[in-house]
Amino acid sequence: MAKKDLDWGNLGFTYIRTDKRYVSNFRDGKWDDGVITDDATIVMSEDAGVLHYAQECFEGLKAYTTADGRIVTFRPDQNAKRMVSTAKRLEMPPFPEERFIEAVEQTVRANADWVPPHGSGATLYVRPVMFATGDVIGVKPADEYQFRIFVTPVGPYFKGGAKPIVIKVSDFDRAAPHGTGNIKAGLNYAMSLHAIVTAHEEGFAENLYLDAATRTYVEETGGANLLFVDKDGKLIVPKSHSDSILPSITRRSIVDVARDYLHLTVEERYVRMDEVENFVEMGLCGTAAVISPVGRINDHGKEISFASGMEKMGPVTQKLYDALTGMQMGDIEAPEGWIHEITL
Ligand SMILES: *Cc1c(COP(=O)(O)O)cnc(C)c1O
Repeated sequence: MAKKDLDWGNLGFTYIRTDKRYVSNFRDGKWDDGVITDDATIVMSEDAGVLHYAQECFEGLKAYTTADGRIVTFRPDQNAKRMVSTAKRLEMPPFPEERFIEAVEQTVRANADWVPPHGSGATLYVRPVMFATGDVIGVKPADEYQFRIFVTPVGPYFKGGAKPIVIKVSDFDRAAPHGTGNIKAGLNYAMSLHAIVTAHEEGFAENLYLDAATRTYVEETGGANLLFVDKDGKLIVPKSHSDSILPSITRRSIVDVARDYLHLTVEERYVRMDEVENFVEMGLCGTAAVISPVGRINDHGKEISFASGMEKMGPVTQKLYDALTGMQMGDIEAPEGWIHEITL
């Protein structure tokens, strides 16, 4: 085994084609055995369901090298479970949870030379994806699908440390009440692209979406859940009246770390937009960046600045970030079952 000759410390968050990927196809009512293949391309019918009615979903997780040289992934069972519930909502055949975890293992193992070394700040991003390959022309679920996992080495999301970002309250909605906001489907991203491109043109890093029905409560950003810290050091995590927040595994892990490891008080509750100005720290959380600190929100011209400022993460956010990344990298002991070792 020879590590790839990459400049690990300077990777971006972009696709780099690695040697191997996992592919399983669903045909005649069942998933085939699955193979590791070199072929990074997909050939399918012009009439494939994914191309017309967007029957597609995905997952995202990471593999890390620990200080003692093991390769581990973080809570892959949770991604397996979430992909099953996403698939059911989209009338796709769920890929069995045990097979999902095995497929992640096989794919990472086959690309072991691409797993960034410990301490480089880089990680191996693992992308499971599932889509309808079967022909459909009338609107209905397809009868053939592909499940695929590929990996790509990615740099630290924030080079030179996480600087707080400025976000805006969007006039677009991310997800309809009781729609598909709580599943990890590409369709939720297709309709967010115009909003994010527009926000970037206006100088904002992200969109903060309110609940679509009443525009009163905060929900999440385009691809990350929200965290707040109040002046008493309490962690506040928004809930949705209309089940339209994506259940982030990072967020759930942070809640557990906050309660059980840092002994903070945690409130998971509905959060009104008009109370956000009372908080002292804010962060966005997801697999890619773990936590991105937010320094300021622009709400239709009204600036909400957090006490933590624009230079660095707030103190509580930093503690949460250090604890969770320490567990992910194997430097701090994690709760039972969180760290899944991949034996070579
Ligand atoms: C994937 C995703 C997240 C983050 O989930 P993690 O499991 O923490 O990576 C948050 N919001 C949306 C809309 C997502 O698609």
